Amino acid sequence: MERIASFCVDHTKLKRGMYLSRRDGDVDTWDIRMKEPNHGDYLSTGCAHTLEHLFATCARNSAYKEGVVYVGPMGCRTGFYLLTRGLTPAEALRLTVECYRFMANFEGPVPGASETECGNYRDMDLPAAKREAAAMLAVLEALSPDALRYDA
Ligand SMILES: [Zn+2]
Repeated sequence: MERIASFCVDHTKLKRGMYLSRRDGDVDTWDIRMKEPNHGDYLSTGCAHTLEHLFATCARNSAYKEGVVYVGPMGCRTGFYLLTRGLTPAEALRLTVECYRFMANFEGPVPGASETECGNYRDMDLPAAKREAAAMLAVLEALSPDALRYDA
């Protein structure tokens, strides 16, 4: 079998940030890398799960919701994939910053965290999610929309 494109990125050189991972037709896949790969520090499952619920809720309620195709955690627990359609890099970055700010400041019950709405609703860690979102927000706010590339 062929090695898929995301495995061809050199993960030993990957820093925290946001990168255009691939383009499939009019769909862009954004690599939102919250942790340096293989450095011993990863999102816990409860943290990643909570971020997933909050990120998806925010993105699908934002001004850019028509351009949001999918939001989900990486299995390696070092970040998230955001799939967009019809958004410029500046808009995708603005959406991501908005969602990380929302997650960092979130208070109250996690949306969708109930037995009827989720497959593992007890596996949530809001304090960790808020902490990790705040840490990543600072990284995202320092990014320029024309530098969201692996080779930038
Ligand atoms: Zn869930």
